[in-house]
Amino acid sequence: MLSYRHAFHAGNHADVLKHMVFISLLRYLNQKDTAYMVIDTHAGAGAYQLDTGYAVKSGEARSGIVRLWDRKDLPEMVADYIEVVRGMNPDGKLRYYPGSPYCADKVLREQDRIRLFELHPSDYRLLDENFRKLQEAGGRSGGRGKRVMAQHEDGFNGLKSLLPPPSRRGLVLIDPPYEVKEDYRRVKTTLADALTRFPTGMYAVWYPVLQRMESRELPAKLKHLPCNQWLNVTLSVSGPTPDGFGLHSSGMFILNPPWTLEAQLREVMPWLVSALATDKEAGFTLQSGNGAPARQARPAR
Ligand code: SAM
Repeated sequence: MLSYRHAFHAGNHADVLKHMVFISLLRYLNQKDTAYMVIDTHAGAGAYQLDTGYAVKSGEARSGIVRLWDRKDLPEMVADYIEVVRGMNPDGKLRYYPGSPYCADKVLREQDRIRLFELHPSDYRLLDENFRKLQEAGGRSGGRGKRVMAQHEDGFNGLKSLLPPPSRRGLVLIDPPYEVKEDYRRVKTTLADALTRFPTGMYAVWYPVLQRMESRELPAKLKHLPCNQWLNVTLSVSGPTPDGFGLHSSGMFILNPPWTLEAQLREVMPWLVSALATDKEAGFTLQSGNGAPARQARPAR
């Protein structure tokens, strides 16, 4: 059963962390001319309207993008992200919010490829429509046929067929709803499989920081995957709410991150915490380490 709709959460503090880090990973990949592929296993609708429908009902953007929109003192990494959001709101009024597919479309070059998976029929339809509109508006997706492809399929399974990408350069974003326990397990097994197919790929996993055991255990499990390095950043905008409802904290776990990322985050996260904090328990954590050694293939007899 698919009940999750990302439109409720578009532009909240968790989206700010996710999209800011995602865009910085894309900018890093842009430093080399060689083409790369971005695979978004859980794409959502691609773009969201903040002044109507679900987004107005939840008001979640007020915990994130709304607090940053008029700030004039943005650190570089935040400014880079806000520039992408401004690309959707050229008149300066915040009405639209870019999902990860739009962020990728905006930052990638002509030679790069975007592969999207979305399982919810309504969000898949919106994703398709949103990219068609971009194409009609003469946007970057003009050559959509080859450059951007969206599939109405399970992203955990679909990923397998795309790895390794032909150029052997790529970033995989894994951003499931985590409404079912199964998502936590599948994140880990999907990554374990992906790393055997494409060990040098960059992988970014968004996850909610919750009391439930699966959420607490996820980062520890990801640290044991075979990769060169991992980096884990979390952002809490407050302490837990007394009723335990509502998301106040989330994380991005990156496997094979750019070597520059940790220093950039160390600089930007205190600013982001102060901009988004709603109480004194707001804060961030940042850790990195070496992944487990890759398992050797069994020698042939
Ligand atoms: N990545 C998007 C962004 O940052 O704009 C948000 C994605 S949202 C958190 C998760 C999406 O995954 C939802 O739209 C949901 O319908 C979709 N979904 C759930 N299970 C899926 C699966 N197994 N494969 C592909 N999509 C799935």
